[in-house]
Amino acid sequence: IAESLPDDEARREYLSFVFVGAGYAGLEGIAELQDYVADVIDRYPRCRIVGTRFVLVEARERVMPEIPASLAEFATRELRGRGMEILTGTMLESAEANAVTLSTGERIPTRLLCWTAGVKPAPVVGELGLALGPEGRIEVDATMRVAGRSNIWAIGDAAAVPDPAKHRRAPTPPTCQHAIRQGRRVAENVAATMRGRTPKPFRYRTLGVFVDMGQHKAVATVLGLRLRGFPAWFAARTYHLAMMPGLERQVRLAVDWSVGLLFGRASAELGQLGHPASLGDPHQDTAATR
Ligand SMILES: Cc1cc2nc3c(=O)[nH]c(=O)nc-3n(C[C@H](O)[C@H](O)[C@H](O)COP(=O)(O)OP(=O)(O)OC[C@H]3O[C@@H](n4cnc5c(N)ncnc54)[C@H](O)[C@@H]3O)c2cc1C
Repeated sequence: IAESLPDDEARREYLSFVFVGAGYAGLEGIAELQDYVADVIDRYPRCRIVGTRFVLVEARERVMPEIPASLAEFATRELRGRGMEILTGTMLESAEANAVTLSTGERIPTRLLCWTAGVKPAPVVGELGLALGPEGRIEVDATMRVAGRSNIWAIGDAAAVPDPAKHRRAPTPPTCQHAIRQGRRVAENVAATMRGRTPKPFRYRTLGVFVDMGQHKAVATVLGLRLRGFPAWFAARTYHLAMMPGLERQVRLAVDWSVGLLFGRASAELGQLGHPASLGDPHQDTAATR
């Protein structure tokens, strides 16, 4: 669209990208998008001349509370060095179809606002009549059985599973790491209960956190080690490849990544990704709202 517009001002709206929330989803999202845009913009001469703008807005004074401050500072420096604006201590005040306004009073013309300021369970969770815990997640005990129910279990982002790493005083973070392991444990618990045995509590401590920043760089804490730059990116790729279920998928992914390293990304595939559901109808959006 941006390339086809006759007017540079209108084009600028399409080439400015605003993300709200600098947790790992926001940071990874904006970094990967910039990496992608940098890969393909040479094909669009008018867009290249106007240039792009990437803005990450964060209410707190620092990005990524999930990782140590030194790694968060490294990530901030790295992304600012790529020309991104990281506005900490700043909030989104309002959004229109073609602009957003920040708490600083600045109005940014943009057609893309990406909300990464928190995870909420899918709307259906609130309609099930089950007890809800913190952040609207389903209240469960340590075995992931729903509070007050003998035959209903809940796991993943939708459930407030007591986190063993926090002495079970707070729910597990909404991550795949936890959801996958909760899935295995709950399957064993359901089978155990059907055989008249006692279900076991969920036990798992986060192994680490990766934040992929594109351009073959990342920050990571793995088993207590702090990594940054290329080693962190390589560790992240290796881990994600290892976690991909099935040898066939692993081989496909490894081949795709290798082809990407040699030839860049295939932008023509974007049209196959479909379109998100309308914000007007929460029931249309079956995926967890993030
Ligand atoms: C941008 C981003 C990056 C992330 N990166 C990482 C990462 O690097 N590492 C990590 O560990 N975690 C990461 N996460 C978190 C991770 O994706 C989630 O924690 C994980 O997917 C939770 O799994 P889940 O099965 O609970 O929920 P989901 O994966 O959200 O699955 C829920 C499914 O239920 C379906 N559904 C919803 N309502 C209904 C309904 N009424 N009927 C039928 N189906 C329904 C949804 O369509 C969806 O498919 C990331 C999340 C985001 C948004």
